[in-house]
Amino acid sequence: MTLTEIKRILAARNLRPLASLGQNFLFDQNICRQLVAWLAPAAGDRVVEIGPGLGALTGLLLGHEIHLTALEIDRGLCAQLRETFGARANFTLVEGDAVATLPAVSGCDRVIGNLPYNVSTPLLVALLQRPAPPRRGVFMLQKEMAARLGAAPRTKDYGAVSVLLQAYYHIELLRTLGGGVFYPAPAVASAVVRLTLRDDRPAFAAGRRRDFYQFVRQGFSQRRKKLRNLIPQYTGPERAEELTVSEWRELFLAPSRQDAKLI
Ligand code: SAM
Repeated sequence: MTLTEIKRILAARNLRPLASLGQNFLFDQNICRQLVAWLAPAAGDRVVEIGPGLGALTGLLLGHEIHLTALEIDRGLCAQLRETFGARANFTLVEGDAVATLPAVSGCDRVIGNLPYNVSTPLLVALLQRPAPPRRGVFMLQKEMAARLGAAPRTKDYGAVSVLLQAYYHIELLRTLGGGVFYPAPAVASAVVRLTLRDDRPAFAAGRRRDFYQFVRQGFSQRRKKLRNLIPQYTGPERAEELTVSEWRELFLAPSRQDAKLI
């Protein structure tokens, strides 16, 4: 989708890119093709696209023998997507907030999205609210968010979302980009990350994954306090940012936690 096409469609539908919905449309064909290649959908895969917008990735995805479910919140963009792709048997559009629809949408082997940056954390957390987390995800994110996902313990970017996502996924930072490939150009730099489901992930059901995330969040919200003050029996590293992902898993499963104030 070229910049001219994007502007033409928006004008024809009397739409303007909404900053409140993180609407920065991709018009660089090479980046679009690269994102789909990194996802590498296989024939028969059920793929979910978050925030299809005007369909820059949607059209390329539908060139594969997959079933595509697209989750879009903007009513005007949904009308455009229906007109362009609605006749395809392998396309389903779900109108609404993907934070709410993603956990229950049927079938999600792989997920892709040039994400609205203001809700990228809840969208990534929502992946783990599905009964079975998708095997692979490719996302365009704000560069700072990508850094948080891949952050190591004892760094400023390491937090609850790093622990949750790293417990379930191998995280690769594939590339960073400036704003020039989007219309309008965002003020921040972007990055592409790929998530690949780990074989050694915790075998928690979706509800238990949510509890795990809440537990870790509470630990990090007490950054300056020592974990021992919160969990009397605790003898591990002193502060939330010092615990590795596997130490967080162990702490979550520790029997003594049942009596702790941190639950
Ligand atoms: N995929 C298109 C592209 O690359 O050109 C659009 C990407 S744009 C960065 C983000 C898209 O997510 C917009 O279409 C926006 O309307 C949609 N969006 C924003 N918040 C959403 C939400 N909570 N649920 C679903 N879609 C959302």
